[in-house]
Amino acid sequence: MSRRGLRFSQTTCPICGSKEVARDDNKGDLLCTNCGHIIVRTESRAVGKFDIAQHLKRNGKMSFPNLKEVTGASDDKLFGVLQNMENMGLVMQLGGQWSLSKKGSRWYRQRQGQEWGY
Ligand SMILES: [Zn+2]
Repeated sequence: MSRRGLRFSQTTCPICGSKEVARDDNKGDLLCTNCGHIIVRTESRAVGKFDIAQHLKRNGKMSFPNLKEVTGASDDKLFGVLQNMENMGLVMQLGGQWSLSKKGSRWYRQRQGQEWGY
C-alpha cells in the first residue's frame, strides 16, 4: 500500500470519533481511514510547517500578515504552527519578521526530498 500523499492529521473524525484521520495532500481534504468519511475543510486552509518553510525560503523574512496572505490560514492556525516551529528551532522572529533558521533550512531541504520522493 502506498502512503504517498497521505499524512495523519490531528483531527478527530466527527462521525466515528476515530483519530485515524489522514490528510490527502493532493486535494487538501481530510479522510477518516476508519469509516471513510471525508472531512472537507472550508473555513480556512490547513497550513503546515512545510508550507510556511517554503514561503520563508522563497521570500526570506516575512511578517505575520504576509504569511497569512500567502497561506490563507486563520490567525489561530498560523500562530499555532509558527509557535510550534519556533519551539523546534526552525524559525526565528525578529522585529515582527519571521525567517528560517539554519536548522529550519536543513529541515526544509530534507522534507523537500521526501515530498518529491527521493
Ligand atoms: Zn470516521
